[in-house]
Amino acid sequence: MTAGLEVTGVSAYYGKIRVLEEVSLRIEPGEIVTLIGANGAGKTTLLRTVCGMMRARGGSVTFDGKDATRVGAERLVAQGMAHVPENRQLFDTMTVDENLVLGAYRRYRRAGRSAIDKDLDAVFEIFPILRERLEQQAGTLSGGQQQMLAIGRGLMARPRLMLLDEPSLGLAPLVVRELFAIIARLRDEEGMTVLLVEQNARAALKLADRAYVMEVGCVAFDGSADALLADERVLAAYLGGSRPPSR
Ligand code: ATP
Repeated sequence: MTAGLEVTGVSAYYGKIRVLEEVSLRIEPGEIVTLIGANGAGKTTLLRTVCGMMRARGGSVTFDGKDATRVGAERLVAQGMAHVPENRQLFDTMTVDENLVLGAYRRYRRAGRSAIDKDLDAVFEIFPILRERLEQQAGTLSGGQQQMLAIGRGLMARPRLMLLDEPSLGLAPLVVRELFAIIARLRDEEGMTVLLVEQNARAALKLADRAYVMEVGCVAFDGSADALLADERVLAAYLGGSRPPSR
């Protein structure tokens, strides 16, 4: 099953300061769309607004064809939207197992451990290392393993749309490659829809189908990931250089 997302003219504020200014974007079911842009452009704020942690002031969010603008985070999780926040936000002193269970807490509370066994198996199939580390405290995992756990915890809620906030943060290039291959697999094998916020624009554009570039609270431009990888504006601002001269 798949899900699409449509954000139309959304604004958001911290107090009186407007940090999103009529942002619009669209993700087709089963697409990976990346959101790139400088620090402070508003990418994290947009994810928080989409997932119901922050209130949109003006504009609308539609998830899976239904209005999601003022639905609230808990209900959106139940409807199939998972948010994997910046810096992972794991419970460091709890075990891998306990962190994963929290991702499916509603079902666990209602029906006990047997109700989530299949979900755990599905997560272990994607991230075998988590099964090996089940009783280990989350805070003692490597950075890459912590990010896998954060995504695994999101998957426990059986999402159809994942909002990933800077999953590559602090990870070695090889680990980023491994992680991004898994995100591609989620799209290709499960039809997962993904909105990926990234500072690592090059890796994100290689993974994504399409991209939006944000500048100070607005979408500056968008396009296919391939086109943006070759776009002078993206090269100069986010990929550290200009295109080699063509001969
Ligand atoms: P980064 O890559 O640094 O996370 P970003 O593009 O995700 O940047 P946001 O974190 O969404 O940007 O921040 C957008 C703006 O809102 C920035 O000017 C930031 O300083 C401001 N901001 C973020 N969080 C808060 C907050 N809790 N209270 C007040 N202002 C905030």
